[in-house]
Parts: sequence; structure tokens; C-alpha cells
Amino acid sequence: MKRERENELQQNSSSESSDGLFQLPAYYPLSKKFKAELRQLNPAKTIDSVIKETRSALMETLFEYIDNQAEQGLEQVSKGNIAAEEYEKTKKLKYKEDPVLLRGKRVLEKLNQTRRRQATYLAAFQKTRTEILDRHEPELSLEDLERYAHMKVVPSQVHDLYKDVLSSNVKESASVSEMLVKSEAMEIDKKLFVAINPTEPIPFNDQEDDDEIEIGGGKVNLTCPISRLIMKNPVKNKKCGHTYDKASLANYNSTDCPECGVTIQKSELVEDTLMKIRIACYERDQKLQEFHKTKADDDIDRL
Ligand SMILES: [Zn+2]
Repeated sequence: MKRERENELQQNSSSESSDGLFQLPAYYPLSKKFKAELRQLNPAKTIDSVIKETRSALMETLFEYIDNQAEQGLEQVSKGNIAAEEYEKTKKLKYKEDPVLLRGKRVLEKLNQTRRRQATYLAAFQKTRTEILDRHEPELSLEDLERYAHMKVVPSQVHDLYKDVLSSNVKESASVSEMLVKSEAMEIDKKLFVAINPTEPIPFNDQEDDDEIEIGGGKVNLTCPISRLIMKNPVKNKKCGHTYDKASLANYNSTDCPECGVTIQKSELVEDTLMKIRIACYERDQKLQEFHKTKADDDIDRL
């Protein structure tokens, strides 16, 4: 039955010129209405924000876990159950050995991978959409039917176009995506490391230009080079890698970096996220140590 139908179609098209029957075009443009709808479509935006939210909620949970661990560790140190040096030594490897942190990291990496993959599909969709909307073709009408039926070069159908764009996008972005996922994994490691070891320099580093500024004793300086106080809102100068407190920079009566003399440009300043974590966690440790010290003193007084 199907075969017969095909024959019929073939006959129709071959006899088209002789008997004047028109041929249905192999390609016809999208209607104005559909193009308008296509312009409105915004897929994947919600998915992206859900992934981002989930990711930051998980990161918060890991930070809380680290705070908890610090609390327990410092209490043990203050009670004399663990030597302070021993505690410091175990802390340095915690970011890559603690089973809870490891599991959390794996989930974060999966989320980042999903986000990247999602971005590839979204980019392919957007590219396809642009290409289709850029086709300035008259809408299909009876008058234009003939024209479309005799097109020499038939543009790709939407689905084929999307498939082509997607496969080239996937090829193009696979290596970039892999690199990004890797550097995001490194970023997670860094955040966990500094939350556990607020004043320790990061023992692994991917970018040479991202070296942290160390002070004597191999510790990282948490004070502002302008105010000499512990920073509250650290901003990093991308040009030289030095970090200052936002507030002291506002009152600073020079445009030269106090550490190296390069001109400080507003466009080069970014929030120093790692430094922010360092400071918060350093203050956490200070408070905990203070708390346990007072408690120990009280206990001695009571004797
Ligand atoms: Zn500098």
C-alpha cells in the first residue's frame, strides 16, 4: 500500500511540467506566528538556576561540616587529647581524604558537569534559533508555492540544522568543557582547603598568576596592606594579585598598589572569594580557641 503511494507521488512530480500539476515543496518557511513563539522560547534557564542553587546549598553544608569539625578538633586540642601540631598536620590533608567532603565534592562535580552539558544544548538551540530567524524568507503562500517547490538549494530543516549545530558544538566545547569542569573541581578543593586551613597557602595551584601572597613563616596574610587590619570585604587586584579591603581602598589617597606600586584600576578589582572564606574561618578558629581557653581557665578557677 505504501509502495503504491510512493509511486503515485513520484508520478505526480515527474509529470508536473507536462500536465501543470503543482509539486509540494520539499522546504517551506516557518510562519510568522511560529517565529514569534520561537523568539519567546527560553529553555533551560530554570534548570541552570536550580543547579546553581543546589550547588551553593551543598557548598554551605560542607562549610558547616568543616566548622563542626573545627569545633570538635579545637576542643580536643584544648583538652589536651590531641597535640596542636598533630591536629594541624591532619587538617592539611582533610580536604582530600575526609569521606564526607569527598562525597560532597563528587556531587558538586556532577552538578558542574550537568551544567556544562546543559549549556552546550542551550547554545546549540540558540544558534539554531538565530539562524532560522535570520532567514528572511516570504511566508508560504499559494503564489510562492511554485518558488519554494523549485528551490535549487534547500535550507536545512529545523531538526537537521539543530543536530548539525549540536554535534559541532559538542565537538568544539568538549575539550573546553572538560577544562572548565577540571578548574571548577580545583576551585572546590581550594575553598575546602582554606576553610579548613585559613592561614595556610594552597599546596596545589593550577594558575601561576594566581599565586597567593605569603608572609613570613609561610602563612597567608589576612590583613589589608592599607589599613593593616584584618580585611572585611577583600578585593583582589587582578593585575598584580594583591588584595585590599574595599573600605580602606575607598579612603586610600593614592592609586598605586601599596605592595608593588602598579596603578589600581577599578575594572581590575574582583571580590577575593578565597580570602573571604579564609577570613571567616580564621575568625571562627579564633573564637573557638578563645572560648575553649576561657572554659579551661574557669575550670581551673573552680578547682
Ligand atoms: Zn600589587
